[in-house]
Amino acid sequence: MTKVLLVTGGSRGIGAATAIKAAADGFAVAVNYRTNRDAARAVVSTIKETGGKAIAVQADVSEERGVLGVFEAVDQNFGRLDALFNNAGVIHTNQRIRDYEVATLEEQWRVNISSQFLCAREAVKRMATDTGGNGGAIVNMSSAAARIGGANSLMAYAASKGAIDTFTTGLATEVAPLGIRVNAVRPGLIETDIHDDTGDPDRLKSLVGMVPMGRTGTAEEVADLVVYLLSDRASYVTGTHVDVGGGR
Ligand code: NAP
Repeated sequence: MTKVLLVTGGSRGIGAATAIKAAADGFAVAVNYRTNRDAARAVVSTIKETGGKAIAVQADVSEERGVLGVFEAVDQNFGRLDALFNNAGVIHTNQRIRDYEVATLEEQWRVNISSQFLCAREAVKRMATDTGGNGGAIVNMSSAAARIGGANSLMAYAASKGAIDTFTTGLATEVAPLGIRVNAVRPGLIETDIHDDTGDPDRLKSLVGMVPMGRTGTAEEVADLVVYLLSDRASYVTGTHVDVGGGR
């Protein structure tokens, strides 16, 4: 019996690293992406080259239609779901409170919050032991920004991740009796493309001095934590928010 993992936003960065490491840990992986088909296919090829099973699934998970499509693809290709990594997320350009426009705020709430609620809803329907499922594990992507607040730059992004911390606490409590564990990871400054979207090409360089370990982190360092939380090795871990940020 091969366990099945869905990674949203699995084409690049932390999602891609997690898909590859989870496959090495024995999961069959559905790699969701929104626009970057070649990158998603490259992740699938890497997994298949090492004997793993994977598919790439295009969908915008900030829309209900996209979420339903991804889960249908998982049902059709694998016939079961054991784990969900709610990873897809976007950042916005650096702004202060007087600059925020409704469109920016709505995109942050839709992509960073609603997508995680909708994907969790579909995952729980399939995993819950009271309706014949086998139980499972969910990891929600939060951020150190949820603690730090994002003042003067990324406050809406930070607030969206704060909502994920609260969601994680609530969902973990609600679905523990259904055999499902739910945890959040809160990465700090991780070397991925997402920082380009803040409009500050030097973002990592200018903030790294605030990290006690004195360096940025890699997608692989976050992926190791996520795969652990999704695995049976974390069988008594639920409702936590785990920081992976070099001490910041
Ligand atoms: P990234 O390299 O920019 O990758 C983002 C991924 O999300 C891509 O695979 C992208 O798909 C996908 N995506 C975005 N919107 C989507 C949507 N509506 N539907 C489906 N997929 C969507 O970013 P990353 O740094 O790996 O970030 C992943 C998560 O970690 C995000 O939630 C981010 O907030 C969080 N995080 C990152 C850091 C950091 O320092 N990097 C720190 C804390 C938290 P396409 O390739 O098709 O565009």
